[in-house]
Amino acid sequence: MEKELLRIEHLKKGYGTNDVINDLSLTVRKGEVIVVIGPSGCGKSTLLRCVNALEDIQGGQILLDGEPVRKNAPNISRMREKIGMVFQSYDLFPHRTILDNITLAPMKVQKRKKAEVEQEALELLDRVGLKDRKDDYPRQLSGGQKQRVAIVRALCMHPEILLLDEITAALDPEMVREVLDVVLSLAKAGSTMMIVTHEMAFAKAIADRVIFLENGQIVEESSDPKAFFERPETERARQFLHTFDYESD
Ligand code: ADP
Ligand code: MG
Repeated sequence: MEKELLRIEHLKKGYGTNDVINDLSLTVRKGEVIVVIGPSGCGKSTLLRCVNALEDIQGGQILLDGEPVRKNAPNISRMREKIGMVFQSYDLFPHRTILDNITLAPMKVQKRKKAEVEQEALELLDRVGLKDRKDDYPRQLSGGQKQRVAIVRALCMHPEILLLDEITAALDPEMVREVLDVVLSLAKAGSTMMIVTHEMAFAKAIADRVIFLENGQIVEESSDPKAFFERPETERARQFLHTFDYESD
């Protein structure tokens, strides 16, 4: 079994009197794909934002490779380089080309050489079928293409773990597949990921482990995604999954 990469211990996070994450613990091994599902407002985005140290936390700790990940800690920029994040909105720089969008952070933050970074960016763009769009600007690309660029941008930083927060939620249906296929290929290649998604068929196909979250707590956790989606053990997970079913009669 692969070594433990991420450890979340007794995490507590709230906004004012609103407790969002309540004593949540979770470990992720290298190469594992964790899919986090749950109703709107249950804390999925907050959880990912805590892992990326975008939020102050009120209790517990998050360790990556045994080192604390904490907002404003002295080691945080080094730690953040190990964590890639892709959101629903791709947040590409509109006045930069696709290639520049990808190479900017590796050059500025990681001080890597332009030639080396560009070569890697082109290889990654090729993998997602967008090499010939390198000189385009984001507005010239479809939503699905922009989201593939956002994934490449994250990968070019060589993160140890990739956090994906509903990355297909804003896409037209015909573009969802092309983005999810990229994520599936990353999983096959051994990337460690925590994925928040409402695409249940995708979740079932990609997850090594499914976490069902409600009110900031893990209500059900399964290392057998097929069984989880077909026969969840808790009533809450059953109800939640039922909202995705349609019956024809
Ligand atoms: P999910 O991603 O599962 O839909 P979120 O993590 O976005 O849920 O939100 C969980 C809860 O935290 C919600 O009640 C939401 O209103 C609250 N929340 C999220 N972000 C903030 C914020 N910046 N300030 C105050 N409350 C927030
Ligand atoms: Mg969310």
